Amino acid sequence: MTAPLSSSSGLEVLLSTLQDAGDVESTLNILNVLDELLSAGTDRRIHYMIKKGGSDALLSALVNTARSFSPDYAVLLPLLHLLAKVGHRDRRIGVRAEDAGAVLLTLNLLRKNISHPRRAAACLWVLQVFSSSVSTANLIGQNHGLDVIYHLIPPYTTQHLCPIKAAITAFAALLSTKANVSSAVSKGFVSGLLQLYEDWFSNDSQCGATEICHALLRCLHKLTHSAAGRQAVRLQGGLRLLYQTTQTCLHSKGRDCLVEPSVQLMRKCLPKTPLPLISDQSAYTFPLPGRSHDALETNLAPDVSSDDSEEDEDEDDQEEESKDYDDDLETDLNKLRHCPEPDRPKEMLIQYSRLCPELSHDFQELDLSSESEDTSSSSSSSSSSSDEDEILCPQSSRRKCTSSRRRSTSSRDLTSTESTSETDMSSERHTPASPPSEASGFRRHRNFLSTSPSFRSMVKETREDASSGQRGGNLEAEKEGAEESNHRTMIDRLLGRHGVSIPHHDPRLYRAAATRTQSIPGFSILAFPDFWGHLPPPGNEVMAPRRPNVQRLKVFEDIRRFLSTNDIINQVVFDLEDSSLQCPSDCLRFYSKFESGNLRKAVQVRRYEYDLILNADTNCSQHTQWFYFEVSNMEPDIPYRFNVINCEKTNSQFNYGMQPVLYSVREALEGRPHWVRTGSEVCYFRNHFCPARGPRKSTFYTLSFSVSFKHREDVCYIAYHYPYTYTALKAHLKELQKSVDPSRVFFRQQVLCGTLTGNSCPLVTITACPTSRSWRDMHQLRNRPCIVLTARVHPGESNASWVMKGTLEFLCSSDPVAQSLRETFIFKIIPMLNPDGVTNGMSRCDLNSEDLNRQWCKPDPTLSPTIYHTKGFLYYLNSIGRTPLVFCDYHGHSRKKNVFLYGCSVKETLWQSGSAVDTVGLKEDPGYRTIPKTLDRIAPAFSFNSCNYLVEKSRASTARVVVWREMGVLRSYTMESTYNGCDQGIYKGLQTGTGEMQEMGMKFCQSLLYVIRDTRSLYNKTLINHIDLDHSVLDHKSHNCFEDDEPPCVEEIEYSADCPPLHGTDLDSEVNSNMADTEEEEGEEEGHQGTTRRDSLGQLSNMKNRLFPHRTRQSSMETLGERRKSCNGVSIANGQIIS
Ligand SMILES: [Zn+2]
Repeated sequence: MTAPLSSSSGLEVLLSTLQDAGDVESTLNILNVLDELLSAGTDRRIHYMIKKGGSDALLSALVNTARSFSPDYAVLLPLLHLLAKVGHRDRRIGVRAEDAGAVLLTLNLLRKNISHPRRAAACLWVLQVFSSSVSTANLIGQNHGLDVIYHLIPPYTTQHLCPIKAAITAFAALLSTKANVSSAVSKGFVSGLLQLYEDWFSNDSQCGATEICHALLRCLHKLTHSAAGRQAVRLQGGLRLLYQTTQTCLHSKGRDCLVEPSVQLMRKCLPKTPLPLISDQSAYTFPLPGRSHDALETNLAPDVSSDDSEEDEDEDDQEEESKDYDDDLETDLNKLRHCPEPDRPKEMLIQYSRLCPELSHDFQELDLSSESEDTSSSSSSSSSSSDEDEILCPQSSRRKCTSSRRRSTSSRDLTSTESTSETDMSSERHTPASPPSEASGFRRHRNFLSTSPSFRSMVKETREDASSGQRGGNLEAEKEGAEESNHRTMIDRLLGRHGVSIPHHDPRLYRAAATRTQSIPGFSILAFPDFWGHLPPPGNEVMAPRRPNVQRLKVFEDIRRFLSTNDIINQVVFDLEDSSLQCPSDCLRFYSKFESGNLRKAVQVRRYEYDLILNADTNCSQHTQWFYFEVSNMEPDIPYRFNVINCEKTNSQFNYGMQPVLYSVREALEGRPHWVRTGSEVCYFRNHFCPARGPRKSTFYTLSFSVSFKHREDVCYIAYHYPYTYTALKAHLKELQKSVDPSRVFFRQQVLCGTLTGNSCPLVTITACPTSRSWRDMHQLRNRPCIVLTARVHPGESNASWVMKGTLEFLCSSDPVAQSLRETFIFKIIPMLNPDGVTNGMSRCDLNSEDLNRQWCKPDPTLSPTIYHTKGFLYYLNSIGRTPLVFCDYHGHSRKKNVFLYGCSVKETLWQSGSAVDTVGLKEDPGYRTIPKTLDRIAPAFSFNSCNYLVEKSRASTARVVVWREMGVLRSYTMESTYNGCDQGIYKGLQTGTGEMQEMGMKFCQSLLYVIRDTRSLYNKTLINHIDLDHSVLDHKSHNCFEDDEPPCVEEIEYSADCPPLHGTDLDSEVNSNMADTEEEEGEEEGHQGTTRRDSLGQLSNMKNRLFPHRTRQSSMETLGERRKSCNGVSIANGQIIS
């Protein structure tokens, strides 16, 4: 639009003339000119006109014309049309119309012209446009507008479809307000509309009136925003009607567009069904120190008060992310600046000196190493050692062994620590020595593997072999009891016959480590996969293709639960809280009471279909996402449908090719111990369930997938993602410690602190031993920069642990790059920040039902000990001048593909936010980009384009932001790894396995070499070449990635409560057709018939908008020349206004 802004533009002159014009001809001419102007350009032109008072001018012209005793429809009709087009784009049109007194006037005009289809249509469009404002829509409603318009919708006919469509659309527009909806529902319009829909649908065999049907569905959608409306649909048999009509639509191409609105409508009207639970609170509770048990109970009491049946639907309950992202950016420069002031007194930091053993270690063993073969076993002075118990020591003597070692540990490491303060972090005060009574370890229990009869029969032959053979370990067995001994023997046999060698995994070590893991329920069973171990399956696992309409078909099945209940079983077959539950012999058996297990209840819905309910995070009623359970007693080769019905996230990668994982014991015993991606018909959608006792408003989502089991007698495990337990970490660290050469690798595992249930949070130090004890070598060691890595603060993000496993294994390996990294850096690694969450199968929180990654600003020493002490340790490093060079916290991301980093940059944040702060003078080291840039080149799963470096207010208390801001770590990151797979690079289209995740952990380490290049001129070029050459195959990778934007599913993921719009219908084309349609002529009185001259004029304005019959158009063009002079120098050339 190139209209210059002069004090009185040509357009304004036209508009003021329009309001003053007395005679028909000049009014028509002006209308015509306006139409010419507006039809040639884009919407911007109309918006310009609105800005210049166009709507008001049209409204006052309308009022002037319509008020006369016998209004001239020759003027009125084009006026209404133009008003509809302009008003449609004017957000304030309703208010303007009310001010001008045009609302009721138009309604009256409609009443008078009910028998004139074209006039009625024109009035209806204008009323529709006015109804965009709530007060205007209510005004029309109060003046019986709903009734007038509703009665304009006739049963099926082939006549005058245009005004009928206009009536339904206007009716729907009026239903945008609560008052009108409840008035319409109370008048029984729901039933009427359902009948109309049925009538139009069944008579319209040629699909000529699909738009009408669609518009009727839209009205029903609006009415069902209210609980009364939804109830009316149910009572009037609406569900059945919609279900049946939809089934018809499925076979008719022309009516495809009716399916989605019908499905959404049915979903909306399904009665809200409370989850079959007594309480929404987690089945696990844990009394928190400092809070009485009673207080906890009342805290946890369900919110019964808000249980006032079904509330009206809120439209803003959608994506939390949909709020304006830029508003979340931190623009306060003070909050973006580093503030290295500790949150606690300096004296309290000294206790952390024990966590830097490499700085005080004297490496005496270096002098001996050449002679002695078994340095590794001379534990305490060795460079590779652990504070932790030797977990391989015999069960019976463990306790004694534990406590004596503890004492010695304590005296060695904590000499300078005052143990009086409440913040004392010594492991001894919190760790298992005196576990709280509520948490208990495996040691009290005797059973160690699955309880499933299938499992027993699977290992039976092994057991029989065992009894005929020699019984080993009898001495011990007598102490431990026969059952325990049996079990041991059985396990030994199993391993002897079927065990495969899995790197860095030893089942016996795992089992021993498990005895020390503290859990709230006191687990007595080890999940087989964790015990036995996992090897990545050979070959790639591609993302699951999505069958068209899979979601729709599942929703149909859900609706049939209400329509035909014959095949519905609805029987609880597993209940975490009721172990006495008996279930029929022909249904699946479920179990989840093991480490990281999460399944609260299983309900058999149909013969081969089960609803699964996940346990909320301990001490709260939310955060369901992670699942891990055992299933057995299956029939082979039959697709079982599983529905996890209380998911909370609004969308999921399960809609985009991701599958859950499955582990089969039988397969493992046959030499294939693999977690594999499994499940067909995977999809994720909003369901009709609501909390058992909480607010009915909350919505749940269903993850649905089908699994066909391969073997009859099998025990399988199904999980959200590759499980990685706390015990797995402990066992892994033991393995690593055994694996390193202590004369070269300094590996030390220590206890950062204890957790609430009495587990220990390990901290691992890895660096290279000095080549000698010379001053120079020791000095070099003690001046190596620190790299601090953490993971698994969110217990459901097991991918973070697999990436961390890769990091740890690489750093302990003999790879020359790893050796160089060890020689260059000191690695401080806290591989699991939330052991209690992981152990108890939680998704998001710690036991105090808080997200630990939102506690970093002011972590509570008692309730969030791991964060409190990690932060304290970082402060300590700061205080001794050893601020980490890099900090990275490993996470998993459930809604994006690839692996990527979030970092922190002041400049990028200010730029992105559009802040007025001048960034020219701001100096910022761009070094924060080195690692992501390097990873983009060397790590196949990594995507630079998905990274960002923005500091959000909502993330102010995350590790990344706090470590950056308070510790001044420039390179402070969150690393997010997908649960699904990649959409770029050589892994494009593949789901990630544990191999790819471990590789990512290794690549992250390799990228650190480039940081040295950044910070020093001295770096090892050969090594860097070594890394680069390694991956000359990478065909990376500059694709553009749009935040959160998934490629659309074959099937739209539709959660909105509104009716999906019908493509190809808009008000403009409707209005145009009303003028162009010669079949609907109403007689001579208007005298402006459409003619056949549209071709020649069509070139002028591409027929986009066609308000006027062409005879008038032509004459107006002719008079335009004369007007030009009188219009104060307005000239119109090529459809542009020049003044
Ligand atoms: Zn996370």
